[in-house]
Amino acid sequence: MTLHQLTFLAVGLLSIQLRAQPTLTKEQQEVLSGLDGKSSHYGTLSKQIWDWAEVGYQEEKSSALLQQELTKEGFSVKAGVAGIPTAFVATFGSGKPVIGILAEYDALPGITQDATPERKPIDSKKAGHACGHNLFGPGSVASAIAVKNWLQKTGKTGTIQLYGTPAEEGGSGKVYMVREGMFTNTDVVLHWHPADRNGADPSTSLANITAKFRFRGIAAHAAASPERGRSALDGVESMNYMINMMREHIPSDTRIHYVITKGGEAPNVVPDFAEVYYYVRHKNRTILQDVWKRMVKAAEGAGLGTETKMEYEIIGGVYNLLPVESLSKLMHKNLSLVGGVTYSPEETKFAEKMGESFGASFGSIRKPVEAATVSPFSNNDLLSSASTDVGDVSWVVPTVGLSAATWVPGTAAHSWQAVASSGTSIGVKGMMVAAKSLTFTAIDLFKDPALIQKAKSDWQQARGAGFQYEALLGNRKPALDYRK
Ligand SMILES: [Zn+2]
Ligand SMILES: [Zn+2]
Repeated sequence: MTLHQLTFLAVGLLSIQLRAQPTLTKEQQEVLSGLDGKSSHYGTLSKQIWDWAEVGYQEEKSSALLQQELTKEGFSVKAGVAGIPTAFVATFGSGKPVIGILAEYDALPGITQDATPERKPIDSKKAGHACGHNLFGPGSVASAIAVKNWLQKTGKTGTIQLYGTPAEEGGSGKVYMVREGMFTNTDVVLHWHPADRNGADPSTSLANITAKFRFRGIAAHAAASPERGRSALDGVESMNYMINMMREHIPSDTRIHYVITKGGEAPNVVPDFAEVYYYVRHKNRTILQDVWKRMVKAAEGAGLGTETKMEYEIIGGVYNLLPVESLSKLMHKNLSLVGGVTYSPEETKFAEKMGESFGASFGSIRKPVEAATVSPFSNNDLLSSASTDVGDVSWVVPTVGLSAATWVPGTAAHSWQAVASSGTSIGVKGMMVAAKSLTFTAIDLFKDPALIQKAKSDWQQARGAGFQYEALLGNRKPALDYRK
């Protein structure tokens, strides 16, 4: 055989393998067709939430829409939990096991975009679903309802709970729900996230503390009597200067970023108030807290040196994700059974057009067809350099998630491209991949108590003996006005 023939054979075998249909049980086929039958309905819900694009703790309409859907399906809904008006828990069934599914629905301020493959901001909007949480919410609700249907049909004992969790983006909504003990009776929690690929790896994330540092000085005419003023902006700038020098002397995998949220109004008035909003992240909570303490010292020093009064408010704080490998394997198996997203010709055109905007410098030129694949399972100490309040949940109950290709391959989270895809049929297709994978996984857990036992013992071991949960944001009340 020539090399050419060999290659031909290898490619042929590979495509046979790729084309081989995974075997689905009759029960699984029923679950899939049930969800497929309602995908346009869930698509409508997701588009509605995409249109509203409500930011953290202000998701009144989005939260109500999902609650309404669950109530209609026979769930009992408890709204306004953990001191958060837009948080809720919907429950169906009774007894053990209790499987929870997380649903997010907050948008990001400052990024708007139409559902087009080219940049087209919407001036009338203030926020956009650049993290795809308009899909996250309805996708999880779709799964909870499918699981409920299965419980009803089979008469199995068990409880399915859908947690409506607001303000993931910087508001740490879930932390208050964890602090309130809302996951105490839950055996396993499932979640997912919109992405540009399909995967279910036991990856972790960065723990995070966020805070607003406020400086108060004395206003004065900046030219006529500057000596009588004390600039609050000087306080902010001195703090930033010290933090930026500090970067040289902290573990290099720390992330620190800030924006000046108040810096005065006019150059000829010495500002008597200024505010800077900081994030600090590290995968290790001990290192994080150490760097955080040094940041507070810099803020105190800045206040001292500029004769301004400094005070700070911790806005958010989240744990790193604690993965459970056995659960990730289970999720990966189910995601592989479900398979990825296949684009229609119009969707392919959309994806190719959008691909032109990515630029080679990001090294992310990828083919739309990749949305159809599922990334191979990897347990290679994966770290996402993002943070999520799912982290806190994962330290009080075994938790597992997946990523589903709701965005054109190559899309970065928090980008206009992510907003665009999240508002199209491409987003809905990815959302349904997630809903199906979550449902399969929940059903597996209901059917086989050994899976839950194994997850619990792996999780206990990963968590370490003597672990006691303590929220990184302390005992503050939910920062309901952090986006105001
Ligand atoms: Zn996000
Ligand atoms: Zn997100």
